[in-house]
Formats: sequence, structure tokens, C-alpha cells
Amino acid sequence: MKCDRVAIVTPAEDGLWLAIATSGSVTAHRCTDPAEAVLMLSEAPAGATLLGVNDAPEAWREPCGPEAATWPGATSAPLLVARIDPALLAAEAHAFAEAHPGTTPAEAQARQMAMALLALSEEGALPDLLAATFAPVLGADHVLDLRRALPATLEPPRLRDDCFAMPQGVDWVPVDEALSRLRQALIPVAGIETCATADAGGRILAEPCRARRSNPPSPNSAVDGYGFAHAATGAGPQRLPLVDGRAAAGQPYGQPVPEGAAIRILTGAILPEGVDTVVLEEDTASDGASVVFDGPVKPRANTRKAGEDVDEGGTALPAGQRLRAPDLALLSALGIAEVAVHRRLRVGVLSTGDEIIPSPDLPAQPHQIWDANRPMLLRLAEGWGYAPVDLGHVRDDSTEIERRLNDGTEQADVILTSGGASAGDEDHVSALLSSRGTLSSWRIALKPGRPLALATWQGAPVFGLPGNPVAALVCALIFARPALSLMAGAGWVAPMGFDVPAAFTKSKKPGRREYLRARLNDQGAAEVFASEGSGRISGLSWATGLVELPDGPIAVEPGMPVRFLPYAGFGI
Ligand code: AMP
Ligand code: MG
Repeated sequence: MKCDRVAIVTPAEDGLWLAIATSGSVTAHRCTDPAEAVLMLSEAPAGATLLGVNDAPEAWREPCGPEAATWPGATSAPLLVARIDPALLAAEAHAFAEAHPGTTPAEAQARQMAMALLALSEEGALPDLLAATFAPVLGADHVLDLRRALPATLEPPRLRDDCFAMPQGVDWVPVDEALSRLRQALIPVAGIETCATADAGGRILAEPCRARRSNPPSPNSAVDGYGFAHAATGAGPQRLPLVDGRAAAGQPYGQPVPEGAAIRILTGAILPEGVDTVVLEEDTASDGASVVFDGPVKPRANTRKAGEDVDEGGTALPAGQRLRAPDLALLSALGIAEVAVHRRLRVGVLSTGDEIIPSPDLPAQPHQIWDANRPMLLRLAEGWGYAPVDLGHVRDDSTEIERRLNDGTEQADVILTSGGASAGDEDHVSALLSSRGTLSSWRIALKPGRPLALATWQGAPVFGLPGNPVAALVCALIFARPALSLMAGAGWVAPMGFDVPAAFTKSKKPGRREYLRARLNDQGAAEVFASEGSGRISGLSWATGLVELPDGPIAVEPGMPVRFLPYAGFGI
């Protein structure tokens, strides 16, 4: 049954609360007695109705008229009356009442139960609840489903306006310190939803996943060969008569194999009763009537124990795990059809600058340039498994930028802007953010990359990336990537890197950490792009990663180890 409305009745101090949930709305009414509640329902008929009451449903059926039926018993009717227990959602009702002052506990319970049951009905899960016979209380064995179906009463916490503030007097911040400050300032913001395992690639687990059953579920054979009881074998040549039939994957052999006999067995077949050891086919000879091989064979050779991979109830994957193809294999093997994941983090991307033409299919004058950052940043966000939100391009105009940021915080959890983030006359993004008093311009000691503007706008973090595409990419990979990961629920991430020999010469002064566009040559040594000019976008495409040179001074000679951070390690 799928219902168009759910009505829930809960006892109040003097009378009843009746909550009615229909798609898109929930209303609650005080009633003096059941007759009034029934009247209210019949006055506003709305298709198939589930009426949940907390006493005997039979007592309600007659006043409800001939179309009514009761559960347990009936599982479908124009008006199905079922017994519910409002206390199943006590915690949620309490939270609702706290968030909505003036609501009584009975009203909150009625509202929450009505909403949860309607949501489950809309998901198509109501038949499952109605099929349960565990208790004559609807939903008693689906409490977690009911709880999960409810929308959160709270918005995720938003950032404090001064969360990015730097202590006074701080001039240049080393990269590592900037990263640890950023990490402390941010919080996870993405709520939770359920998702079919098959569709969960790239999503982030919100709860640990537990194995529904062991893997493998039963002891089975690891090879093609012959199975027998080890106890009946010894050293030297062995000859065991074969039983009729065989055991194969998906075709279990239903009877015991007597001690002293053997059975033809194939990879993945459940070990029949009486079999604990398998000898590899290649080590045997058989004429179809018996099998011969050289003993001794080790007990339990070539078999897999039940649960040797994962035990039933064991944690298969931890919360925060970003699901990759192998994870989908594991979850499916363990019978996990649905997972609780974080809602996709919505990442808004906005380009700024009078010279920017938003799309390469529009004409550009010589003084104008096509927007390179927005497609790059949108694709990064998408590749990281987030929902990219294209906030377009705005001119260097505070009013326009302000309007777009206002729109942006409605559509996105975090905003990446590019351009206008320094402290110059034309740097309208930082001017606007600082006029609101929520800006911290971080002068990070890194090259390429001028100050990174960090601000909150209506509680959402804004990363003001440099306009220069090379600097924008480096700042996005080094700063935005771990920050977004934390906000999305997957925790802070450090880039993957390893030492390779340098295939270049370069000396640098102390002060700034440097990222060079680099790629590995045939010998596995790092070459760097011919020019360090930060306007050279072609170098970003030429590269397959970055070479990271330390904050201190260094004179790199060919053959010296340098740290290579492959693009692949940044998830691109
Ligand atoms: P800004 O940070 O606004 O001073 O810009 C620094 C440099 O980056 C300037 O040469 C800009 O023209 C260039 N730039 C800014 N935004 C973009 C963009 N979206 N795509 C390509 N270049 C840009
Ligand atoms: Mg500009």
C-alpha cells in the first residue's frame, strides 16, 4: 500500500492530538474525542489514508465507516487503521518540541510519526512495515527506518563569522600553519541521506557499514579438485573412492560424504558435510571411480573458512569512507543494499573580473579573456564527488558580486570565487568581503598564489582564489581540496606524494613553499615546465602533477630527490 495521507492520533492531557501529513504539509489539531478526529478526517477526504492510533485499532474501525480495515490483518484499504507507538520517535519528538517552542510532547510525537510514515510510504517502504509480524505495533521493527525518514529539525551548524581570523600581527603564514588553521576553522556541513549501494560510487559514508552476513557465508573450496575428510588420509600414496555427483559453486551437494570417500569439487562450492580438505586437481589422477594422490595433505588445505574475510556484524567500512569501485564490491558481497551517505556537498563557483568573457562560444576583444577558472573549478568539484553549482561570472562591481554571493549561499554550501581577491583597487571581492567584516586575507607563504581570501558569507565559507589560473589551481588543490573534504564529511585529506629524482636544476631562497608544474620522464625523474610564468596555462596541461619545494632554501641538482605530487593523488 502507498498512502496519500497519514493521520496519527496521540493522547493529550485532555483529549487527543491529530496530526495529518500529506505530501508537502503536516497539520496538527486538538480534538476532544475520537469522534471529532474521525469527523475531521472524513470532512477532508484525501485518497488512501493510514490512520495510526495508540490504542486498539478495532475500537476505531466502526466509527471510521465501511471502508476501514485494521492492521495487523489487512495491509491495504482506503482507510487502514493500525496501532502505533508514539514513543518510538521519542527522541525526534523531543528535538522537534525544542525547536518549535509551544509544541506539546503529544503534538510533536503525532507530527513526527505522521511525517516519518508518510516519507516511508513515498519511498515505497510501507509494505515492508505492514509485512512485519514481529509486534502488533506498526514500525516497531523498523525504528531506524522511521527515524531516518524524518527530515532533520536542525540546520547543520554554520560557521562563526570570525572563524578565519588570524591573530594580530601575523604577516606571512607558512603553508602548514595555514592548513592547520583552516582545518580547525571548518566543520562538516553535509546532512545524511540513504542511497542504493549500486548508486553510491563517489559518495561518503555517514555511518559505518556492518556486514549483514559473513563473507564467505559458508566454508568452501578455493580450487578445482577433490574434497574429503582429512582424518581418513595419511602419508604416501592415497586412493579414495569417489561418491556420485559433484559440488560446484551455486550447486551444493546435499548429502554427507562418508569418511574415506572423496567428492569432485569445484572452486567456490560449499564444502559438503564430511569434507574439510581439498586436494588440487593437478596433484591427482582419477579414472572417475576413485582419485589417487600423494599424501600427506595438510588439514583444511585449499579451503576457505566461513567468515575468513569478514564476520557477520563486523565493520566492513568506516564512516567517512569515500566509496570507490572496490568498496561497492565489498558492500554488495556483504549483502548491504543501501548505505547512509552524506548529501553531496554543493560547491558554488563564481568568476569575477571586467576582462572575463564567461564562455568561449562568445566573442572576445583583444582586451578580454575567456573564463578559464570556472570550468576548471567546476570540474574539480564534480570529480571530487560534490555537486558543482555554476554561479557564473560577474563584473568587478560590488553590488553585482554581493547579489551573486547572496544567491550563491542559497544554492551552495561553500563558494569558490576566483579573481579580485588581493588588496588592490580592482579587487572587489576582497573589498566587499572585508566591508562585511568577515574577511581574513591570508598571506600564505607559497608560490604561485597571492593572498588567499577566506571569508564567511551568511555563514557559508567563501574561498577567494587568485585569478591567475595557475595560482587558482594550486590554491584549489592545496587548500580547497582538504577543506571541502572536511565539510563534505570525509575528513581532512593530505595530498599523496613521493620522492623521485629531479631532472632539473633550480635554486630557491627561503620564505615561500613552491609548487612547480611537473611530470615524470621515462626514467621516472621529475621534469618541470620550461617557464615558471604564472600566466602559462599550457604548463598546467603539460604537467601530470606538481613538484613541492620546501619552505627553506634549496639548490636542486639533477638526481636529487624532490617531492612529486601526482595530479591523480589530488583526485584529478
Ligand atoms: P586578479 O586576481 O583578478 O588580479 O587576476 C589575476 C590575473 O588572472 C589577471 O591577469 C586576470 O585577467 C586573470 N584572471 C582572473 N580571472 C580569470 C579567469 N576566470 N580565467 C582566466 N584568467 C583569469
Ligand atoms: Mg581582476
